[in-house]
Amino acid sequence: MRLGWAGKAAIAASLPVVVGLAAFLLVTVDRLGRVTRENLERSLVREAHGAARAVARGPWGPLEMQAWARLLGPETGARITVIGEDGTVLADSDVEDVSTLENHGQRPEVIEARSKGSAIVPRHSRTVGRDLLYAAVRVPDSARVVRMARDLDEAQQALRTASRTFWFVAVGVAGAGVLIAALLARGLARPLGELTAAARRVEAGDFSARVYPRGRDEVARLGHAFNKMTGQLQETLARAEAEAARLSAVLEGMNEGVVAVDAQERISFGNGAAREILSLPPDTEIAGKRIYELVREPRILGLVQAAASGRGPVEAEIRHDGPPRRLVQVRAAPVGTGVILVLRDMSRLRRLEQMRTDFVSNVSHELRTPLASIAAAVETLQDDAARGDPVEGPRFVQMIQRNLRRLEALLDDILALSRLESRPETLPREPLDLAGVVRAACEELAERARQAGVALAVRAERSRVVGDAATLRRVVDNLVVNAITYTPQGGRVDVALEPREGAAVLDVSDTGIGIPEEDLDRIFERFYRVDKARSRSAGGTGLGLAIVKHAVGLHGGVVEVRSKLARGSTFTVRIPLAAGPAPTGAADAGAPGETAV
Ligand code: ADP
Repeated sequence: MRLGWAGKAAIAASLPVVVGLAAFLLVTVDRLGRVTRENLERSLVREAHGAARAVARGPWGPLEMQAWARLLGPETGARITVIGEDGTVLADSDVEDVSTLENHGQRPEVIEARSKGSAIVPRHSRTVGRDLLYAAVRVPDSARVVRMARDLDEAQQALRTASRTFWFVAVGVAGAGVLIAALLARGLARPLGELTAAARRVEAGDFSARVYPRGRDEVARLGHAFNKMTGQLQETLARAEAEAARLSAVLEGMNEGVVAVDAQERISFGNGAAREILSLPPDTEIAGKRIYELVREPRILGLVQAAASGRGPVEAEIRHDGPPRRLVQVRAAPVGTGVILVLRDMSRLRRLEQMRTDFVSNVSHELRTPLASIAAAVETLQDDAARGDPVEGPRFVQMIQRNLRRLEALLDDILALSRLESRPETLPREPLDLAGVVRAACEELAERARQAGVALAVRAERSRVVGDAATLRRVVDNLVVNAITYTPQGGRVDVALEPREGAAVLDVSDTGIGIPEEDLDRIFERFYRVDKARSRSAGGTGLGLAIVKHAVGLHGGVVEVRSKLARGSTFTVRIPLAAGPAPTGAADAGAPGETAV
């Protein structure tokens, strides 16, 4: 059993009491024994002197002396023996017939009393068979000796009883002392035990641990101080945790990948963007791993080492093999004893830059073609003969007009696209019925369809969306114009709008030339055309579907295409319906039936 400090304190407190008491008792009992013995001896000698004097006053006849001894013996509680000059016993209080007694002349006390006048000798009495204390006194002016004997056992017995009582009391007192010390120590130990338990909880990370101090002593004050300290710790920790959570949320929300590496090249933090840029699975545990376990790219590791060896912030653009392949800008900066890596995926930026360059060169090219035609026509018309020619003259003028229209359409589409891209927030957002937009567009394009020999049918159910009517009109126009343009004479174009599964669903289907499968992905790109010449001759700009895709996206929708070569195509636009009361009554229903326009 392990002895707690309280037990030790109890023992320490009671040990001096117990030892002291034991020493005191040993000394006292011994002393008491000696004093009692001395008193006994003294009184016995005194009594023997008294008796000797009485004998000296004689003359006593033998019978008288025996009677005197028999009387005095019980009175004094001692055995009285009178021994004659020759050692014969003259009288004895304890013996009826003294003649039966042997000669006492050689008894040590008798010999000593004869020579010194008195003697005191403790010894065993053969006559009575017990330990006796003998006091012998020579009778004045005589060689006789009076001897008094008292039982030593009796006195010793009384002493033993007294000392036993002493010991009892002492053990009781010591026991009570130990008990009181133990209780006091326990009273102290309990709050300290509570403090220890609470400290263990704090050690295990539970900062809500508190103690309940009672009283105002040092232990209670220690308890209050402990509570205050843990409270402050808890607050500081909560603040630090909130700060860390905020920082972690900021880091997680960043587009840039951030990786913190310690002096041992062990990763202590890495955000989601870092995982993505380094092509690590999203559930990869980053923290705690060595950087070279996760990043194989030697140039990134080189940057970490360069930054760690104190060469300041270093950066480089690195082509990361992926997959997917990425162009990553890596910046490594020393922070404390570690390194912070910031990774920026430059691929999108570069792609956008590339798109912009391509767009500019495409636009220049698209503009140059009609301008070149116009320039050629104007040059021809400067020639009087051509201008005066009744056939060629108007043909060149028409050519100029056609190319001017193309230029106008091109600039119009470029502007529309740039507006959608650069200022999408300026787009009006009003609740409107898409059916009205669809019907208006189809009505206006009916003549164009008729001229192309294509049957145009429209069926539009009320579908309320939130957005910009003009932009949505452009979407419908572009899709229907394309359907008419790429459908040969005798074909048909069906435009259908209905609310379905929370979206306004617009289908523009034609029975036209269709789109090769390999081009389906690309027709929404700017200036991409399956058949350039056909598109141009039909007045197409190559931007129509790009505008459609962008405009639909800005309305929270999507556009898809299904097509079969020589069979026809279907473009489907889905735009989320406006939240609000469900459409009611015929007034809202418009004209749901199919209408040929
Ligand atoms: P364009 O002005 O050339 O029509 P768009 O961006 O509107 O440009 O269309 C891109 C290309 O997609 C067209 O050049 C054409 O090749 C193809 N396309 C678009 N709509 C249809 C359709 N309904 N049927 C067949 N091909 C189509």
